Amino acid sequence: MSLRFCSFASSSAGNCYFIQSSDGTSILIDAGVPLRRLESNLREVGINPRQIGGIFLTHAHRDHVASYLIKKPFATRYGLRTYASTGTWRELLRCGCGELDHGACHRLEPSQSVQIGDLTITAHAKQHDAAGAVCFTVAGQRERLALVTDLGTYTDQLLADLQGCDYYIFEANHDVEMEEGSARPWSLKQRVLGPHGHLSNEQAAQALMRLAGAAKGVWLAHLSEECNRPQLACAVIRSSLRQAGLSVPVYYLPAREPSPLYGHGCGYEQLSLVETV
Ligand SMILES: [Zn+2]
Ligand SMILES: [Zn+2]
Repeated sequence: MSLRFCSFASSSAGNCYFIQSSDGTSILIDAGVPLRRLESNLREVGINPRQIGGIFLTHAHRDHVASYLIKKPFATRYGLRTYASTGTWRELLRCGCGELDHGACHRLEPSQSVQIGDLTITAHAKQHDAAGAVCFTVAGQRERLALVTDLGTYTDQLLADLQGCDYYIFEANHDVEMEEGSARPWSLKQRVLGPHGHLSNEQAAQALMRLAGAAKGVWLAHLSEECNRPQLACAVIRSSLRQAGLSVPVYYLPAREPSPLYGHGCGYEQLSLVETV
């Protein structure tokens, strides 16, 4: 089965990614947008929230779990299953998670997989300053997608695990010079630039040169609104891929707005012509 996907938000202001197989199995990765927004975003892609087969949490930072930090979380309201690592569950409960149905809370540790409909979702350990942080690959029968945000650095093992995907949603958080020259507090700069923070455009380019050889596209995610520019991030990654002899379309996901739907049957080739101008 083929895949299609979009983001409802992708930045430190919020993260939520919708992925669907062509047989209609739908999941969310992260649910870091306000409840009403999430409901209307799903309506716009033609999905009733009850049709979501599961919500997969990468880590418990607010921009990824905001819809859990209310009295009656989105997942509870619609009877949805949530999958997260032990570290993420601990952190979520510590941060003031609302009322949960314990039968719907599942553990998915790094290197473990779960099957939802015809989708296989696998968690992969990553380096970030949150307990139990993971990224995910999502495999249908014919296509595979990797979603990788919020990591300070990557290991050869992680890149090996992410090899061979059709779609890469990949963090290009900041431009190093913009980050260093910003008015942000020194401690925040140290965090973002450090090995448990976020990937720069150059780090993303280096990883994607090793990953994206056979990919149908790369979608840059979690761009800093203050310390990056979409055109700059796209230009850096495009030119690195080109230098490596790879001709892979590169897109970016909007920080606060929903992206178009991409993937099978969504005509993203045409969209790329508009977005790359
Ligand atoms: Zn984040
Ligand atoms: Zn984070």
